[in-house]
Formats: sequence, structure tokens, C-alpha cells
Amino acid sequence: MDDTISPRKAAIAARAFQDGLLVEDAPLIGVIDTDALYATINDLRSSFPNFFTHAFAAKANTMPTVLDLVRKWGMACEVASPGEYQAAVKAGFVAGEIVFDSPAKTNWEIDAALSHGATLNIDNFQELARVDAWLGKKTSASIIGLRINPQVGGGSIAAMSTATQSSKFGIGLEDGDNRQRVFDAYETRPWLTALHTHVGSQGCPLDLIAAGIAKTFNLAREINQRLGRKQIATLDIGGGLPVNFESEAVTPSFGDYVAALRKEVPDLFAGEFRVITEFGRSVLAKAGFILARVEYTKEQGGRPIAITHAGAQVATRTVFMPDMWKIRVSALDAQARPKSGLKVVQDVAGPCCFAGDVVAHGRPLPLLEPGDFVMLHDTAAYYFSTPFVYNSLPAIPVYGISGPDDVLDVTVMQEGGVLSF
Ligand SMILES: *Cc1c(COP(=O)(O)O)cnc(C)c1O
Repeated sequence: MDDTISPRKAAIAARAFQDGLLVEDAPLIGVIDTDALYATINDLRSSFPNFFTHAFAAKANTMPTVLDLVRKWGMACEVASPGEYQAAVKAGFVAGEIVFDSPAKTNWEIDAALSHGATLNIDNFQELARVDAWLGKKTSASIIGLRINPQVGGGSIAAMSTATQSSKFGIGLEDGDNRQRVFDAYETRPWLTALHTHVGSQGCPLDLIAAGIAKTFNLAREINQRLGRKQIATLDIGGGLPVNFESEAVTPSFGDYVAALRKEVPDLFAGEFRVITEFGRSVLAKAGFILARVEYTKEQGGRPIAITHAGAQVATRTVFMPDMWKIRVSALDAQARPKSGLKVVQDVAGPCCFAGDVVAHGRPLPLLEPGDFVMLHDTAAYYFSTPFVYNSLPAIPVYGISGPDDVLDVTVMQEGGVLSF
């Protein structure tokens, strides 16, 4: 774990402190470097040919200000609940730019998606029957597809592996007579014009993701060949590019992902299908971080512990699965400048009232003292934007930062909750 603070992040932290964003009643803030976000989206879009549509997976960060930026910068939006759908609409996405995925769509949700004309990925045969019933009565402008599980296996984090044999998602392609049932579904339903897969997420190697996409591509081609018509016109290949939480380096990059796909499924780039992607974590994670004040320090059983304001409420996965979701934590002094000094193995804990509320276990860092700050890196996706309302801890204020290091521009992206008795 590389806890070096880049000059850019140091400039942002110093500015946040100078602006009084980290004051007595604001001991915890989130920061998004919107210039970094812009650069990542540009990199994503320029790494792929233009017949690819990139839908941002809203669950990675549903903040309205974030959805607004990703829309302005050319992305579509993938949602998986009515709440995410509404957030996308509020941010200005029109139905044709919204992809609706969810393994548990109610009749009401299906009705809304098909009435609005959002792209709909059907998760299973029972849901297909509901869509049949709906289309028996009305017409829809939606692009509709089936989500298949190519069953290529999992990565290093079981909970993030969507293409295992027994994953809950999609139609398992290798199970029973599912392959035949999928063919039959397309043969009898000319309105099924898309095919969807989402192979994995954090912890899934690129060749596994590419293998799942290859299987999906080949199935789409086979269906069209057997039907003798180009019925499937859209392939949705999902998201899931892993993020490097060990250092500042962006590995794998979107370029690496494209290279893996070009090797495994070169024809995906031939333009035979319109392609949708659904990246979440890889778009946002590295654009932001959390700053939290150290309130107290102590030594328990020989181990120094810093009690900070960042715990399970903003770093839920890291606290509950510390080995799977290790994040970089750096020490800053009381003016939010990178702290130097002899490194001492210590724990960095949060404010929640349970013993496991620790964001870094046994980490060598300059010894933290009350009034210092800690930086939790790579936390703009699934961390401060996905709070856990434990102990009724308030929402974290989030600031957007842009511009050159010496003249940073600061905006409020999310108001914090009220802290008062
Ligand atoms: C979560 C999810 C994504 C985004 O995954 P990331 O790992 O954040 O890129 C994309 N598609 C579907 C269907 C998802 O459930």
C-alpha cells in the first residue's frame, strides 16, 4: 500500500483546510477532483470506437451533481432501482439514455421503464413473461434484451463475481436447456433486439471478463445466424473494470481492457453490433478521497489507535471486509499537510459504536495525534456516495475541486447533514 500523497491531492487538502471546510463541526469531508473525473471519462471515450455508448453505473455514485457531470461529459446512465432511475432523470438523462437493470423488477417498474422507453435488460424467464404480458397490451420504444450469465467463473472477491455457476444474475447459459430456451425466446419475439451480460467487478481479471463477453458476442451472432436476420443489434457488455487501490497508478486502464477485448473478441470492434458498456467504479473511484479529523488517539494492548470520523458510515465494505477492500490511508498534520516522521504500526478507526469499525489495521504511518487528519484514497465510488446510516451519523459534505493546483476552484457537490444536539 503506497500512502504517498500526490502533489495534486496535497494541494486539494491544503485548500480544503484553508477554506475552513475542515472545521470543528465538519470533521469529515469527501472531495471529488472533477478535472480527474473529466480526464477519466475522456480516456474511456477515446479508448473505444464511437459506436460504443458508455452508460455510467449509477450505483457507484448517485450524487445528482456527479450524474449531471457524467451526462454533460457524454455518458449514458445504467440504473437498477426506481431511486437510481429518478436520480438519472433529475440529472437530465432522457429515457433513451437510461439502461434499466435489476434482478428484482416489480410489475410497476417494468411498466414505468417500458412506458418511458428506457433500455430494459430482462434478468430471467419469469420477468420475460411479465414483459410479454405488458407488450400484449401496449407498445414500447424501449430496446429490450435478455441478461445472460456466461458462467465463466469468478474473481478474487466472491461477492463481486457475477458470472459464477450459481450467481443470482441473469440466465445461466450452461444450465439445463437454457441455451435452447434463449434461442426460442429470440425466435418468437422480434422485439428482443439486445443481449446483455455483466461479467464481474472488483477482483475479476481482464481475461475472465473478456471470456464472458466473447461468449455473449458469439451467442448473439449465433442467434442472428440461426434466425437468418439481424435481430440482435445491441450488445450490452456491462462494466466491472477493476480499480487499483494499492497506488496512484491506473491499472488496468481502459486501454488495457480494450486490448484484452481485441484479443479475445476482435469482431466486437467491427461495428456489427452497437455496444453499450456500464462502468462504475473505474470511472469515479480514483477521482476522490475522504479527509477525516483524528479526534483522539490511544494505545490498547500495545497497538496505537487513532479514532477518526471516517468509519463504516462512509467506508462500509472496507470495515466489514477489511482483507478484500483494503484502501490506502495517509497521515496529514493539523493543517492538512502530508505528515512526515517515523512510521509506526497503528490502527485507524472510525466513530461507529462497534469494535470492528476500523478502516486500516496495523498500518505503518507517521504517528497520528489528535487534530491531525487522515486521507482515505480512491473513495469516490461506492464509499462516501453510498453511506450506511449507522449510529444516525450525518451525510458527509462533498466538495468538487477543479483547476490548477495554485488556483483551485471549490464547489459544494453535496451538503453535509446537520451536526447538533
Ligand atoms: C454494478 C454493476 C455495474 C458496474 O460495475 P462496476 O464494477 O462499478 O464497474 C454495471 N452493470 C451492472 C449490471 C451492475 O450491476
